Amino acid sequence: LVVLSNVNKHFGALHVLQDIDLSIARGEVVVVIGPSGSGKSTLCRTINRLETIDSGTITVDGKELPSEGRELARLRADVGMVFQSFNLFAHKTVLQNVMLGQLKVRKTDQAAAAEKAKSLLDRVGVGSQADKYPAQLSGGQQQRVAIARALAMDPKVMLFDEPTSALDPEMINEVLEVMQQLAREGMTMVVVTHEMGFARSAANRVVFMADGKIVEQATPEQFFSNPKSDRAKDFLSKIL
Ligand code: ATP
Ligand code: MG
Repeated sequence: LVVLSNVNKHFGALHVLQDIDLSIARGEVVVVIGPSGSGKSTLCRTINRLETIDSGTITVDGKELPSEGRELARLRADVGMVFQSFNLFAHKTVLQNVMLGQLKVRKTDQAAAAEKAKSLLDRVGVGSQADKYPAQLSGGQQQRVAIARALAMDPKVMLFDEPTSALDPEMINEVLEVMQQLAREGMTMVVVTHEMGFARSAANRVVFMADGKIVEQATPEQFFSNPKSDRAKDFLSKIL
């Protein structure tokens, strides 16, 4: 469903993504882990063209994303993205946040957008917060709204970049549970996270990155019990 082929990106002299080849099948849950600065966020951001690439190709459902224009907005909506900071619109209600993309990009009518937003908010467990503003919600609730907002576009794939890193510990699980549920329902997901419990239980595959390269890929069982590379062994010895 998502295919990166020989992708390279530089930030000035820094070769932040080096010959990245990665194919993600429909319904697959891929967890990306690796040391800070290894390029995990950049990898996510290139998939929906928040970052340009210098060479290589990226396709989503067989289509290469254009680099700009109206077409980009529509194709980008196929790729839902959830960030560490929830990035909700502060001056709009929770319900409006979830309706906005439907109205603007999908051209859904008001009533249908509202109905869909309500059902998604119920699904992530914050239906009763629909008329509040983001600042009136806890971090865990805001992140679940951000997930509902991304889902409202009917994305083909969801990207999560450290979705629980900014949350107080007691709110981490409520967000991970929503993600687990999505995974069970067959959503294609790329998840950058330090939550190794989530990786073990939800991932079909772990991708380990270091210094802009994919160093190792394996099932969670293989990766955690028998990492092959020294970089991965070193990384795991520090975090487990
Ligand atoms: P972390 O675990 O800390 O989030 P990461 O694996 O997500 O790290 P990236 O954010 O992808 O790493 O960054 C990879 C490298 O690219 C880092 O050295 C970072 O400083 C650099 N970098 C990221 N964004 C930019 C930018 N806009 N301009 C210049 N350098 C950048
Ligand atoms: Mg990052």
